[in-house]
Amino acid sequence: MSAYAAPLKDMRFVLNELAGLGSVAKLPGYGEATPDTVDAILEEAAKFASEVLDPLNYSGDEEGSRWRDGQVATPKGFKDAYRKYTEGGWAALPFDAEWGGQGLPKLVGTAVEEMLTSANMSFSLCPLLTQGAIHALELAGSEALKQMYLEKMVAGQWTGTMNLTEPQAGSDLALVRTKAQPAGDHYLISGQKIFITYGEHDMAENIVHLVLARTPDAPEGVKGISLFVVPKFLPKPDGTPGERNRARCASIEHKLGIHASPTAVMVFEDAVGYLVGELNRGLSYMFVMMNAARFSVGLEGVSIAERAFQRALAYAKERLQGKDLVQGGKTVPIIRHPDVRRMLMLMKSQTEAARALAYVVAASMDVSSRSEDPGEKKKHQAFVDLMIPVVKGWSTETGIEVASLGVQVHGGMGFIEETGAAQHLRDARITTIYEGTTGIQAGDLVGRKIAREGGATVKEWMGHLRKFDSELAASRNSDIQSLRAHLAAAVRAVGECVDYVLATAGKDPNAALAGAVPFLKLMGITAGGWQLARAALISESKLAGSEGDAAFYKAKIATARFFGDHVLAQAGGLAATVTGGAAAVMALSEDQFLAA
Ligand SMILES: Cc1cc2nc3c(=O)[nH]c(=O)nc-3n(C[C@H](O)[C@H](O)[C@H](O)COP(=O)(O)OP(=O)(O)OC[C@H]3O[C@@H](n4cnc5c(N)ncnc54)[C@H](O)[C@@H]3O)c2cc1C
Repeated sequence: MSAYAAPLKDMRFVLNELAGLGSVAKLPGYGEATPDTVDAILEEAAKFASEVLDPLNYSGDEEGSRWRDGQVATPKGFKDAYRKYTEGGWAALPFDAEWGGQGLPKLVGTAVEEMLTSANMSFSLCPLLTQGAIHALELAGSEALKQMYLEKMVAGQWTGTMNLTEPQAGSDLALVRTKAQPAGDHYLISGQKIFITYGEHDMAENIVHLVLARTPDAPEGVKGISLFVVPKFLPKPDGTPGERNRARCASIEHKLGIHASPTAVMVFEDAVGYLVGELNRGLSYMFVMMNAARFSVGLEGVSIAERAFQRALAYAKERLQGKDLVQGGKTVPIIRHPDVRRMLMLMKSQTEAARALAYVVAASMDVSSRSEDPGEKKKHQAFVDLMIPVVKGWSTETGIEVASLGVQVHGGMGFIEETGAAQHLRDARITTIYEGTTGIQAGDLVGRKIAREGGATVKEWMGHLRKFDSELAASRNSDIQSLRAHLAAAVRAVGECVDYVLATAGKDPNAALAGAVPFLKLMGITAGGWQLARAALISESKLAGSEGDAAFYKAKIATARFFGDHVLAQAGGLAATVTGGAAAVMALSEDQFLAA
């Protein structure tokens, strides 16, 4: 079984040439992100990912986490790996120095997060959820809560969870029923939460649950939901874990994938909880944090795609079947067959496109949070808001497609667990579901991010792409010219869809939403194509100046061209579906779906 090797060459190219790490490092507070430091971090993270986490990925999947009498044992090796993770300072990487963090840009944290997730997605979920809980406390927690929890969580000594979902409240959190009864300086929390990632485990000394609940006189719906901290062990005044709180794990789920990540049913029976921020504003705090969490899940799509691609490539070079169509002769490795190459190129080009888009969005997150220029801040925040549902929805759908192609490249062996290809497909499958399904992302894109603001940000982005077309026009490379034509057609297709959304969203929301997912895909391939086109232009100029690794730059141009011919070429069809397909979506009555 092939081992994971972090794609450092592509990561460095994307960080420096596309996402502008140099400018990000000049933002206030990011002085630590010097080229040497970032390089050392990438090297060390790559080592940690392939030497510590990757070897536990397959065994962790086979063994799974196990529940017994309310306790959860993670698979062999996970506890030790988590100790190494915290001792290595990885947990603290993207957080403020005030709480013991290393204060590095989101952009650098993104590259590290990709590596850890590629190597072992189940493991990476514990830090992902902890980061979400830290953001919630940073955003809205009182000084006392911050003092009590943040340092331990940033260090990774205590982990965090997000307790949103209940049996009747999934996508629709307005239906949350968990109760919070006031009791002096705290609340007593009662109710059941399901699907809670790392709700119980044995890797850290305490677990800090962030729980959505309602106080007795709270208004109905989303306006009556508050956020509470409910620790597994109530901290003593000296900050060490004390008495066990009445929050217990009733069971963990048997799932399609991410077997090593425990997905807990949590029962709260008058558990002590502390209000975070103001009463009834829980969901609005969640929405602010969701950008970070949705981004991270989008990055899971990139990570799994990269891992699946590496495995398929290794297999394609080693598996011997059939003859070379032109040369004949001996049996050849399957990578010689055009269809296998097509699949590998689909895997490679879509992974690189999704990575580039995610890193560029991460850089904008840094600018929007740290720039001292209010105009810049606002512009980058608007771009981030527009692109988050695209990064989440498109990268995860792409991750599943790439993992599925990985199985196909392996042939029958892909369907057999021992190659590891099937695990990637099973693990990837959850990414389009949690943190808001693709349908929810697409609805957010069409409704809140486009229709609500009259398409202002998306139109500005399209204007930027049209200007970029003149840069592409100056290229003398025929591959880049071919890509340019596909990108221009995709931008026109986006424009048609935006006009359609703006015309229909107000008077016929069903018509606007019926094609929201194909529209999200169109946005994803256009944004990904834009990044690959930028990569191709930069590569052309590097080659002209005889700078750096010629083979890498030539491959970049060829990969970008492939993406144009095979992926961007779908843009017109997607636009036709969005603008013309709504009536048929809504045509059947509910009884007509199954003709009895
Ligand atoms: C492994 C795993 C880990 C998880 N981890 C956590 C966690 O740590 N914390 C937590 O709180 N939750 C967690 N979840 C829950 C997860 O976020 C929910 O499953 C998800 O939000 C979807 O909710 P649901 O399962 O109730 O599906 P439903 O909301 O019932 O959705 C079913 C289908 O209907 C569609 N749908 C529903 N409403 C709409 C709408 N308004 N518009 C368009 N389509 C719609 C959905 O897209 C989906 O296709 C986890 C789930 C799993 C499986």
